[in-house]
Amino acid sequence: MATRRFIPVAAPTMVGREREYVLDCVDATWVSSIGSYIEAFERGFAGYCGATHGLACCNGTAALHLALLAAGISAGDEVIVPAMTFVATANAVRYCGAEPVFVDSESDTWNLDPEAVERAVTPRTRAIVAVHLFGNPAEMDALDAIARRHRLTLIEDAAEAHGAEYRGRRAGALAILATFSFYGNKIITTGEGGMVLTSDDDLARRVFQLKGQGVDPTRRYWFPVVGYNYRMTNIAAAIGLAQLERIDWQLERRAEVASWYRERLGGVPGITFQAVRPWVRHVHWMVTILLGDEIAVERDAVMEQLHEAGIETRPAFHPLHSLPPYADPARPSLPVAERVGRRALSLPTWAGLTRDDVDRVCGELEKLTGIPRR
Ligand SMILES: *Cc1c(COP(=O)(O)O)cnc(C)c1O
Repeated sequence: MATRRFIPVAAPTMVGREREYVLDCVDATWVSSIGSYIEAFERGFAGYCGATHGLACCNGTAALHLALLAAGISAGDEVIVPAMTFVATANAVRYCGAEPVFVDSESDTWNLDPEAVERAVTPRTRAIVAVHLFGNPAEMDALDAIARRHRLTLIEDAAEAHGAEYRGRRAGALAILATFSFYGNKIITTGEGGMVLTSDDDLARRVFQLKGQGVDPTRRYWFPVVGYNYRMTNIAAAIGLAQLERIDWQLERRAEVASWYRERLGGVPGITFQAVRPWVRHVHWMVTILLGDEIAVERDAVMEQLHEAGIETRPAFHPLHSLPPYADPARPSLPVAERVGRRALSLPTWAGLTRDDVDRVCGELEKLTGIPRR
């Protein structure tokens, strides 16, 4: 019997100049957080997204922390974040001593619901963090209008959305501050890495200072504020630059993989994909399906059986208000986030997948859910 290929849910692809650039760092011994690849990657990625400044840092969580600090978030403040996101979005708020206020999602896009955001604003609210969930841009115009009306800072957590577009503009340039992750499973990777983007000179200066121990930009070894060591290494940036050179290919491959899933599972009763508004470009960090009531099998049982068939999947995020550090019995339920958290799973989505791989995943899903093969 031919051995079946194990299909991971995500995997980086390094088919460009990654190796060459990394060896260049090693040969030149520029392996730490000073070096030409950092500037080239910052400039290149900011330019790609349409922002003026890119500030590279050690991961996406640090990028969020830096953006929130630059926005002046501190103890006693409230920051609105979606309940349906990775835990880092809320953790970074807590690092500032502030409280994340969890808001439910739109029922079809699973992104932050602007009407629910409006209702969550209090006199203590200082910022809104919009997450482009699984690569699908949030409703930025409505969120921006709310932020302006209440004088809040709007921040994009674009960790899952490199290259995504909203009304013709790229993620990363849709708010005054935006953050990215370059973790190994993200659309482009540096191993571990992150970046803050902004087109505001003052905010860029603040982020630069905070990521380098609070250093004075004009006086070396002078530290007027308490900062952090959140810098990115030249080696990581070298990988990032090579990844950036092939981002269009990444996005094309992911779009193709997503189209195969939709083609095969699109009309299947009980399987719903994230809705994609006509004015956005969804970049499919993770093709994620929601199991409807027609499907009697529990989501985790579906994942278990796919695993036995050599297919890795992942559950949607546990809604953050269900996690111990954030649980609050007094908080009303957030039904969309809870349903997605319980009934959604992400299917293998990465650039190296073949049509056969996707057919195998769909075949197993059809079997497991008792859906007749069409
Ligand atoms: C991955 C991710 C992060 C954190 O990025 P790290 O680089 O892992 O720290 C933050 N927010 C969201 C929405 C993410 O998916």
